[in-house]
Amino acid sequence: MGLQIDLAAILANHAALAARAPGSRAAAVVKADAYGLGADRVAPALYKAGVRDFFVALAREGRAIRPLLPPDARINILSGHMAGEDLTGLTPVLNSPAQFFRDRVLRPGKPFAIQLDSGMNRLGMEAAEWSAIRAEALAARPEFIMSHLACADEPDHPANAAQLAAFRAMTEGCDVPRSLAATGGILLGPDYHFDMVRPGVGLYGGMPFAEARPVVTLSLRVIQTRAVAAGEMVGYGATWHAARDSCIATVDAGYADGILRALSSSGAQLYAGKTACPIVGRVSMDLITVDVTDLAEVPDRLALICPAQPIDRLADLAGTIGYEVLTSLGLRYARTWV
Ligand SMILES: *Cc1c(COP(=O)(O)O)cnc(C)c1O
Repeated sequence: MGLQIDLAAILANHAALAARAPGSRAAAVVKADAYGLGADRVAPALYKAGVRDFFVALAREGRAIRPLLPPDARINILSGHMAGEDLTGLTPVLNSPAQFFRDRVLRPGKPFAIQLDSGMNRLGMEAAEWSAIRAEALAARPEFIMSHLACADEPDHPANAAQLAAFRAMTEGCDVPRSLAATGGILLGPDYHFDMVRPGVGLYGGMPFAEARPVVTLSLRVIQTRAVAAGEMVGYGATWHAARDSCIATVDAGYADGILRALSSSGAQLYAGKTACPIVGRVSMDLITVDVTDLAEVPDRLALICPAQPIDRLADLAGTIGYEVLTSLGLRYARTWV
C-alpha cells in the first residue's frame, strides 16, 4: 500500500490561495501532522517556497517542527499557553485572560498572539473579557489578533457577516495585524482577508477550495483474489452475497488505516486505472474486499484515493468531510513525497 503526497501540488495550492488574498500574508496551517500528510516534509517545503507563518494546534506539534525550520519561521500554537507547556521558540495564541496572564508572567517579552471569539464560541476571548485586558494586551504588542469563522464554507450563511462585524468591532483602533480567514474565509473575498490568512485544508486538496490541485493518491496492494460463486457471502457479518459468479480481490488496508468503516456498502470504489471496482462487504481492520469481476486483468494495486475518487468524494460516501478523511490516514502506509 502506498500513500503518495504531491508536495508541488501543496505549494501550487498555497500560491493559488495566496493569490486570492493579494494584500495579506499567507500563512500555512500544518496542525495534525499537516492534515495527516507529514508536517516534517510539508512545513519545510512551504518555508522554501516563502511561507514564514505556520499554525499548529498543540505546543508539542510546534516543538516537533521547530528544529526543521529556520529561526525566522513563526510557529503559532492555536491552543495557546497551557499550564506547564514548554513554548521555547513558539508563539502561543492566547485564548483567554487566564492564558494571557499566565503567559505574561512566565514569558515576559516573548512573542504572543491573541484569539478573540467573534461568535463561534469555541476558542478565544469574549468581547467583555477582551475589553478588560485590551489596553494591557496591546501595550505588550501582540504579533497579531485573530478569530475564526464557523460557517465560511457556506458563503451565504449570515454568521459570516455577523462574525466579520464582531471581529471588526473588537479590533477597531488596535494597531496590530489581524487575521480572520482560513481556506473558506479566503474564498469569501477581500472583506475577510485582513493582514494574514490561514489556509489549511485547501493546501491539501480539500473542499471548500474546489479548484485545488489534488495532493494525495492512495493505492492498496492486492493480497489475494478468489472466485466466489453466486450466493456465497463475503466478509464480517455476511452482509454481502454474490449476485453472480464473481472474482473478489482482498487488499491490504482497512479501518485501522483510516479507511472509514462507514465506507462499507457505501458505493465507494477502488480503481484499476479508470475502471471502478466496488467495495463489497464490510471494511475490516486491515483488509477490504473488492469486486473485480469485470476486470480483464487484476492489477497489483487498486487505487482508493485518485482523481476519479478524490478525498471529498470519499468523505461524502462515508458521511464526513475531507478533513476527517485526510487526518484519519493511518501510519502504516508507506508515504512517499513527490
Ligand atoms: C484548522 C484551522 C485553520 C485552517 O482551516 P482550514 O479550513 O483547514 O483552512 C485556520 N484557523 C484555525 C483557528 C483553525 O483551527
